[in-house]
Amino acid sequence: MRVVVTGGAGFLGSHLCERLLALGHDVVALDNLLTGDTDNIAHLAGNPRFRFVKHNVTEYIFVDGAVDAVMHFASPASPIDYLEMPIQTLKVGSLGTHKTLGLAREKKARFLLASTSEVYGDPLVNPQPETYWGNVNPIGPRGVYDEAKRFAEAMTMAYRRYHGMDARIVRIFNTYGPRMRPNDGRVVSNFIVQALRGEPLTIYGEGSQTRSFCYVSDLVSGILSLLLIAPSEELDVPVNFGNPEERTVRDLANKILALTGSSSRIEARELPVDDPKVRRPDISRATRILGWTPEVDIEQGLNLTIEYFRRKIV
Ligand code: UDP
Repeated sequence: MRVVVTGGAGFLGSHLCERLLALGHDVVALDNLLTGDTDNIAHLAGNPRFRFVKHNVTEYIFVDGAVDAVMHFASPASPIDYLEMPIQTLKVGSLGTHKTLGLAREKKARFLLASTSEVYGDPLVNPQPETYWGNVNPIGPRGVYDEAKRFAEAMTMAYRRYHGMDARIVRIFNTYGPRMRPNDGRVVSNFIVQALRGEPLTIYGEGSQTRSFCYVSDLVSGILSLLLIAPSEELDVPVNFGNPEERTVRDLANKILALTGSSSRIEARELPVDDPKVRRPDISRATRILGWTPEVDIEQGLNLTIEYFRRKIV
């Protein structure tokens, strides 16, 4: 297949490009490098089956030649990014989704949208199945991401229904691993970088809020299996991808302190507005449709990520 990956120089996008190339596919990566980084794809540059184009996908997208699949992964994805780039976040989820759907339609290609557990907001149901409609504050500071992705889902479903397009949606829960930015702002990268630098680990609020952390290689396997399966009515509904092992933020901090051997202290900081209190994916659909379950446990995954940051921040 020839696959277009938007956000191809980002954390998830670059891992997807790498795996697609390893599976023998051709890849065109698009990225405006707002939060992406060419360092993430530098090792792919010599591959004749890989092409990188610097482009903002909220503008018209032109790709020459045949395209078999379009994966829309471009977006700021960390809460501090939505605060700094609220309008770009809204635009890439809305205009960018429209443009990437348009490209897929023009090329008669399959489409896959990267959506998010943020569509569930601060959930009143735990774990979250795909049938849960969510509890989102549309006008809060996080709303720019949540609503952009909810709009993106609605737009994708409209193309699926109205144009009969083979469009699929994945809802991605907290994912971590190499190629997160050291200053990304998300909890795993923050805690690891702070621990390695001997700085205090910043716990927002009490640290009793929960998240479920999936290692990036597991996520990529799940998403690519969904991209590659035959069309079916099952895909009328999005599919959650994440690791269902739920833990508190405080527990994560203690784990990272133990694994890095750091003597950093823990410091309390103010809890961001609308920070979800719990989050855990119900992955029974992904397991039933694809036979997928995550395989990398938290200690293995954290050790691989710690190794990456040790090299990155020295
Ligand atoms: N968090 C924290 N300290 C940090 C960064 C994040 O305690 O330095 C908390 C944050 O308030 C949230 C959780 O960790 O409850 C996960 O935050 P992240 O930004 O990684 O992702 P989210 O799931 O909120 O999008």
